[in-house]
Amino acid sequence: MGPSPPPASVSPVAPATTTRDGVAGTPAATTRTSTRTLTQTSSLVPPDLRPWRDGGTGVDYVHLRDSGVPGPTVMLQALTHGNELCGAVALDWLLRHDVRPLFGRLVLAFANMDAFHRFDAAQPFASRYVDEDLNRVWDDAVLLSPRDSVELRRARELRPFIDSADRLLDLHSMQEPGAPALTICGMTDKSVALARAIGQPGTLLVDTGHAAGLRLIDRGGFADPRSPRQALLVECGAHWEPPSADMALDVCLRFLSQLGVVEAGWAAAHLRCPLPDRQRLVRVGQGLTARSASFRFVLPVHHLMEIPQAGTLLAEDNGHQWRTPHDHCVLIMPMLRPGRAGQTMVRLGRYED
Ligand SMILES: [Zn+2]
Repeated sequence: MGPSPPPASVSPVAPATTTRDGVAGTPAATTRTSTRTLTQTSSLVPPDLRPWRDGGTGVDYVHLRDSGVPGPTVMLQALTHGNELCGAVALDWLLRHDVRPLFGRLVLAFANMDAFHRFDAAQPFASRYVDEDLNRVWDDAVLLSPRDSVELRRARELRPFIDSADRLLDLHSMQEPGAPALTICGMTDKSVALARAIGQPGTLLVDTGHAAGLRLIDRGGFADPRSPRQALLVECGAHWEPPSADMALDVCLRFLSQLGVVEAGWAAAHLRCPLPDRQRLVRVGQGLTARSASFRFVLPVHHLMEIPQAGTLLAEDNGHQWRTPHDHCVLIMPMLRPGRAGQTMVRLGRYED
């Protein structure tokens, strides 16, 4: 399929009567317990990103805005996964509002545009990537290797911007309907303070990465405790649910404001989400990686579910049993769709505060 731009409005539900920042005019239910399908619930539509193809950088869909005043390079990235629309809606909003840094440089990047261009509301999971997960290729051993894929080509285009960034925010969304947002601070505590300073969302995570490959936020200095560079990945909510786009914009504005890149008053005037009462940090001890396509949970699971007792049978995988390793085990983003060998199916952690 050619990389033709998506139509301006692709709604999997009834034709939208009004739009606001990529939200179709048909309300979506957001209960967590229903077995909803996309056609019942989706209302985010892909924003028309064609106006943003030329960002003045020579790399399509990457915008660089230089204040001319010395300062850090701050980068916002959307569409690391091509079907996670919330970040694209947020960056589209920022570009339409002509956001410019007060000092330093601001980079706004729409990452996996080849996948995004294939977004089809009838098969919304199919456009997460084209050849491979763009968020597993950031180790130089992969990125600088001779291997080729659609995603590796794009990662190599994005690398100079990413490697110049002092602060990076990577915007994502999750499978589970109604799932509350969380920030992944990486595999060390070095970016936790920044996440707390932003104040949003309510759950913070320090985890162990993925067996399948290095994430963007774990690349180079972002993961080096001796480096001042910091990166955060925010899971803004559920795929295609309008609140995820509100959260994406809210987090972008708080991030830029906290770093002094934009005027605090301007950012505050456009915030959309109330701050949580407090932020709680979950520290992940282990991820469960599927050994085979037979992996299945043996009880109903959901994101941030807390299992009181150690030793509770959680999943089976081709004869292997997975049990909770400790009391008060918190499940992070259990994979609700069939997995494959090597895929992270859930992460297990505990609240630290
Ligand atoms: Zn994602």
